[in-house]
Amino acid sequence: MTPLKRSGKAVPAKKPVVENVSRAAAIPNRASELIPDSPLVGRVHPSVNVEPRKVGFKPTILLMHYTGMPSCERAIDWLSRPESKVSSHYVIDIDGTITQLVNEGMRAWHAGVSIWRGETDINSSSVGIEIHNPGHGENYCDFPDAQMQSVAALSSEIISRWNIAPEGVLGHSDVAPGRKIDPGEKFDWKCLANIGIGRWVEPEPIDEHICSHSLEPSNDDIAHVQRLLASYGYGLQVNGQLDDKVRDVIRAFQIHFRPQRADGVIDPSTIATVERLIDASNLSPAS
Ligand SMILES: [Zn+2]
Repeated sequence: MTPLKRSGKAVPAKKPVVENVSRAAAIPNRASELIPDSPLVGRVHPSVNVEPRKVGFKPTILLMHYTGMPSCERAIDWLSRPESKVSSHYVIDIDGTITQLVNEGMRAWHAGVSIWRGETDINSSSVGIEIHNPGHGENYCDFPDAQMQSVAALSSEIISRWNIAPEGVLGHSDVAPGRKIDPGEKFDWKCLANIGIGRWVEPEPIDEHICSHSLEPSNDDIAHVQRLLASYGYGLQVNGQLDDKVRDVIRAFQIHFRPQRADGVIDPSTIATVERLIDASNLSPAS
């Protein structure tokens, strides 16, 4: 994709279109109260699936998703309906159009069962962006430049509005390993990090001569990787044991930081990349 600029030109700042106001009088997030948080918003489509954040919570995480649906319109519709019981603050279409569904100050329902830095109420501690992409399967595709320009521009605003640290810019797969794999290995975290959005280190190249599935990491290696990933925020115990839950977390790390191969195997490239990430990060103790 083309280099991203910090101030995106993706969406013109104009009065957003307000839609789906038929239930407006009955819902707390009604259109009349859904004033866009950003001039980049091209359209407002209020979701009923919204509530106040838990007391004392503000966003410390910017959580990226893909919609995993055939069309963006269907995703926006689904994220707004009471029966879906899901929502997000924003949806970004492939042409870069940004639709806001929930005010950033409110709690949207996008993370589900999740954990990061010991916190399990990720909905109360995050802003969620759904990026339209059909998702894994035969139609999983690159995220187009126009879409990524909007992701970058909106993310920059959200990060500065809420003072979110680079280590708080995450994918759904990071906070829900084994359950979610979005936005997936085609999402260009490196490009975003190049303009100050999120943390990225160059992954250690994979040694193709090593058959990764024959690798049997020592208990010390396992504990070392567990300790580093837990210090970054991933939800796992440090016990030197390898089980499916640990493999899920390794795979989640790889999807985000070593996207060339996300197989859940602790190989030398994975160990070196985790170490590099921790060295490059500015981690405060988990609260
Ligand atoms: Zn998701």
